[in-house]
Amino acid sequence: MPLKKEDGHVLQSLRKRDVLRDIEGNRLAADNGVILVTCGDGDQFADLFQHKAGMVAGTTGKPRFHTLSLNGGALLIPKGSPFNQDIPYDQVLLENIREAVRLKDIFTVAVYVHAPCGKAKSASLDFADVIGLAVDAKRRIRDEVRVSGLKVAAFCHVDWEDGKRTYHISAEAWDQWSQSPPVSMLPSSIRSNSSVS
Ligand SMILES: [Zn+2]
Repeated sequence: MPLKKEDGHVLQSLRKRDVLRDIEGNRLAADNGVILVTCGDGDQFADLFQHKAGMVAGTTGKPRFHTLSLNGGALLIPKGSPFNQDIPYDQVLLENIREAVRLKDIFTVAVYVHAPCGKAKSASLDFADVIGLAVDAKRRIRDEVRVSGLKVAAFCHVDWEDGKRTYHISAEAWDQWSQSPPVSMLPSSIRSNSSVS
């Protein structure tokens, strides 16, 4: 199932404004491995993981992954996530990240969202909402896992017209984009002024 056309327009705008960046030049420093937080979507995970393995192999030569995978991935982590009403998935994942750091001495966390994602669709999140939640997830991990030297980066895997791609998400560029998105593309989270933005 490819990305919807309107979401494709948002994707293009986010690319143009440098929110979604090519991985080259934005490689992760992952000397002792990566804690990978991702949705486990059976149609996308193999491509996502293969790409990730290539990225890390390119920097260290020995991929070492500690994967935490629940439906929705990073979408579950922000305080404003719609998915933590009944079950505290955010606390489950934050505690698992803390534990993984402790058990494996891995100090790099890569949080992933992807599109299209069935979990996002179940809460009527559009593409911009998904990117906003990824940025919020990154910041919450940084603020609440509180481990000295911890690096957290956010990524988006997209299955669109020209195939599957992975982008690095710039939180700073997202802040600028979300403050002045193209008028025709206001994300619903901004329109409704909810905490998802
Ligand atoms: Zn998914």
